[in-house]
Amino acid sequence: MTTFSVQFLGCKVSQVDAHEVREALLAGGHVEAGAAEVAVVNTCCVTNEAVAKSRKAAARAARTHRRVYVTGCGANLAANAFSGLPGNVVVVPRRSEDAPAFVAGDVGSIGCVQVDARLDRVRAFVKVQDGCSFSCNFCVIPLVRGASRSRHAEAVLAEVARRVAQGHREVVLTGINLGCYRDRSAGYDLPRLVREAGATPGLARLRLSSIEINHVNEELVAALRQTPTVSRHLHVPLQSGDDRVLRAMARRYSSEMFLRRLAPLRDEFNLTSDVIVGFPAEDERAFENTIRVAQESGLTKLHVFPYSPRPGTVTAYDDPVPPAVKRERSERLRMLSDAASRARWRTKIGSDDVVLVDRPGRGYGDDYSPWLVGGEVGDVVRVRGVAVTEEGILAA
Ligand code: SF4
Repeated sequence: MTTFSVQFLGCKVSQVDAHEVREALLAGGHVEAGAAEVAVVNTCCVTNEAVAKSRKAAARAARTHRRVYVTGCGANLAANAFSGLPGNVVVVPRRSEDAPAFVAGDVGSIGCVQVDARLDRVRAFVKVQDGCSFSCNFCVIPLVRGASRSRHAEAVLAEVARRVAQGHREVVLTGINLGCYRDRSAGYDLPRLVREAGATPGLARLRLSSIEINHVNEELVAALRQTPTVSRHLHVPLQSGDDRVLRAMARRYSSEMFLRRLAPLRDEFNLTSDVIVGFPAEDERAFENTIRVAQESGLTKLHVFPYSPRPGTVTAYDDPVPPAVKRERSERLRMLSDAASRARWRTKIGSDDVVLVDRPGRGYGDDYSPWLVGGEVGDVVRVRGVAVTEEGILAA
């Protein structure tokens, strides 16, 4: 029996991938522990900073563990981001589906143990799709995760039921490009999967991790509206509000299409987004267009990413926007985002909501707005908004 620890960097998909390595080691009869012999670091490479943090985490683990496995997107990045680390570090450049078996096989198994490891106390991220066949000019993900592929619907629905049976009240369907989900052999696309996963007995809430605007179509919107457990929150990456920049990014929509597809949803759904600041083609006028589209589409929260050239991408050698300009524009967008969040929170004063308590004194409403509430972790509580604070809506 070997003791192990698992950590991840990056997105929800990375969290799920790390959990799958955890489940494979537990199934092999090993035990998760704080001070462990073996460490798994599931890495991220979406920005230079993410790679630096991943390398640091691996180096730190190498000082306190007999063996360290570096898995995930960072391990698959062409550039040898982890070269020069101590000899007890093993870089595992394998697809997410293959890494758990490799690590568990390398550690060795002492028998087959039935595993029922929870991912989180309240929320379970269920990966339904991986990879991406879009090829945005700035993005390294298709290079490190490969082309889009989907899990069988039967396996996804079985996992959703298992997570609910484990006590998870909320399930988040997650993937790299979720809208590309297809199980052709069983006749499933994302709208059908949403309807059936959302009907899982005992499930309190179903949410989508993020969805490209290209996939926000009538079928999906109908499925979201007609499935009672679906959270009234959609995370739809914008990246830029300027058409010339969107073309330079090789994004597959225009600002007009983004606005047109979100317009019917903005009163019913809480819309959040991602924006890249300082992309090579972005001048001040283009940035002003991003601010305008973010406001006109009713986005209430923006995750702002200063552009970071990625190895192997079309724009790998292109970074003309000065860091100071990226910082200034990022700050302006974050201020816009904070103001938009507060405006949405203020609409909750005097109105009711249903909050899933996910930490002591905290939780998220049906539209993923943050609340300060009483109740036990895992409780679903009915609340009324009385005030807005720095951290969210205060419940009566
Ligand atoms: S849609 Fe574009 S940004 Fe998103 S993962 Fe695919 S290539 Fe990257």
